[in-house]
Formats: sequence, C-alpha cells, structure tokens
Amino acid sequence: MPAIELSALRSDSPSGYSSGSPSDSPSDRPSGPPSDEASADVSWMSRALDLARAAATRGEVPVGAVIVRAGQVLGEGHNRTITDADPTAHAEVVAIRQAAAELGDWRLIDCTLYVTIEPCSMCAGAIVLSRIPRVVYGARDPKAGMVDSLGNLLRDVRLNHRCEVTEGVLATESSELLRSFFRERR
Ligand SMILES: [Zn+2]
Repeated sequence: MPAIELSALRSDSPSGYSSGSPSDSPSDRPSGPPSDEASADVSWMSRALDLARAAATRGEVPVGAVIVRAGQVLGEGHNRTITDADPTAHAEVVAIRQAAAELGDWRLIDCTLYVTIEPCSMCAGAIVLSRIPRVVYGARDPKAGMVDSLGNLLRDVRLNHRCEVTEGVLATESSELLRSFFRERR
C-alpha cells in the first residue's frame, strides 16, 4: 500500500495515535517507495502467517495474530478453539490476553495488532476494549469480518475508541491458507 494512504489513515485516527509531528500531514508526504512502516507490516504479518500455518497443522482454523510495541512482540497466538474447547480462543484474543499479561495492564497503548484475517465481532470488540490504536490485517472475511465486510466496529464514531486500520497486507497468502485448509477438510 502506498505510504500516502497509510499516512492519510493515520491523520484521520481519532484515537490520537501518531508517530509523526503535527506537521506530518498526508499532503507533506511524497508518495514513493514503501515506507519503513509498510515493510515492518509485511515482516510482522509474515510472523502471523507462520502462526496461522501452525494452527492448520493442529487442525485449527489457520488464523494467526501478533501484537507488537516498539519493535517487540508482546503477545501472539493462533486459533485454539478446538484445542482449548473454547469458542472465544480466536488468534486475536489469545494474543491480547498474552500482551496484557506481559504488560500488566489491560490497556494495550502504543501497540499494533497484526492478524491474517479480518477480525470478527468478538475480536473487534476485544480490540476496542483493549484500546489497541492500530490494527493491520491480511484478507477480508466476507462472512464474519466486522472491520470492513459486515460492519465497522473499529472505526465507529459512537464508540469510545477507534483504531487506525490497514488492510491487505499479505492478503493473498492469508486467504489462500484459509481456502486450502477448508478445501482439504471437505
Ligand atoms: Zn475473532
């Protein structure tokens, strides 16, 4: 995704999250080669994809998530609903619980959550509750996604927290992994 789009999203972020100075507005930024942020997004999403692949080998729906702050992983996980017999053990929730425990704080301030597939209603709700300022996801989930597909829980102005969202990072790999998983199980 071009840097200009990323910066446009950031400047609109009502959560107040910004890594730039106030003068760092979209119009000041030239479009050009991928930004450092964009390449970091790809490398963290690769890690989330590795977790998703690990889920598939356990017969779990292949979705992986990583929570990063200042270049450090605070929490990560993949779907464990079958392993744990827990319908809430989605990759995002697993990673959020781990990151909050690591920080000793329920607020995941300054964190970015990477997840291979668009979050569902439960996970989008957990993201809002944990005050995560930025979410990066891979592919859309037309049947359950509550960020862009079926609803927009992460940018709802009626809620007390909004996220900056970047979608489409390694989307093809993420959706293909899911597709092949369900294809093999049929
Ligand atoms: Zn979910």
